[in-house]
Amino acid sequence: MILTYFYIAAFFLFGLVFGSFLNVCIYRMPRDLSVVSPRSACPACGMAIAFYDNVPVLSWVVLRGKCRNCKSRISPRYAIVEFVTGLLFVAAYLAPQAAWFQEHSRTALLKSFPVDVAYDPTAISIRLCVLSFLLVGLIFTDAETKLLPDLLTKPGIVAGLAFSLWAAVEGPAGYFWRSMENWRVLSLLNSLAGAVMGSAFILGIALAYEALRGVEGMGRGDVKLMALIGAFLGVKLTLLVLLLGSLVGSLFGIFLIVIVWRKRLARRKGKVRGEAPAKARGRAWKSAILIYRNFEIPFGVFLGIAALFSAFCGQSLIDWYLGFYH
Ligand SMILES: [Zn+2]
Repeated sequence: MILTYFYIAAFFLFGLVFGSFLNVCIYRMPRDLSVVSPRSACPACGMAIAFYDNVPVLSWVVLRGKCRNCKSRISPRYAIVEFVTGLLFVAAYLAPQAAWFQEHSRTALLKSFPVDVAYDPTAISIRLCVLSFLLVGLIFTDAETKLLPDLLTKPGIVAGLAFSLWAAVEGPAGYFWRSMENWRVLSLLNSLAGAVMGSAFILGIALAYEALRGVEGMGRGDVKLMALIGAFLGVKLTLLVLLLGSLVGSLFGIFLIVIVWRKRLARRKGKVRGEAPAKARGRAWKSAILIYRNFEIPFGVFLGIAALFSAFCGQSLIDWYLGFYH
């Protein structure tokens, strides 16, 4: 029991440290700066940040989100990224040992492989940590800059494929090659299939959108992000990510239109006196749609969140859903 608490604390601390490194990546990667050197400095006054002001989460709280030297505001994103990464690392440690996770993931794994495949909680924990690290970095970079840096996506794809050799990825390969004795080969094929399917789907949508509208709707970064997610999760969970990602993205889009529409409507009521209510609503709606069209939805954010959810709870959600048909 004491050992469990020790591990929880250790994973949390590791998460904080890796989150702190992610903050450097989120700021520097889109600006094409090195993430290794020079040391961190305040973007406003250029003063190098002392080690005692660089403690994850704590320093931000102690300094109340302000630079010690020039008192300019430090984004709460720094503390949030560190804290979220810490929590996800703890979840990555605990989930593969939890009964509910094993019941669903282990069963799905055993069903899809023709040979005995080891269920290795340590390997799954470390894979979940790496995936969480990459996704938190990509989600926050996309939200801030609308970019998904190659420096995170490309090594991420390779890491996902490599991890499949250590912790088995569930997928359809086992049904096609039932005589295959080596689970690692099947697992790698499942991982490859997930990467190809995820990226092909997004590429297809992007090309169709460009053909129809003549502008780029989804960046090539999203294609690489889905290859990364597919490589880590395999075909089935990748389908779930695409489904959840588009669902949440569409809801966000509708939410955005309604919010802008209501704001516009309130403003028109104050300015344009005597305008017929129906006409005012129509005009406000048109301008809301126009704003929405020009607003680039950070689709990577939704895909990333959907992937995190699917990595931890996807199989349980699928089993719960399919339970209605039994
Ligand atoms: Zn400063």
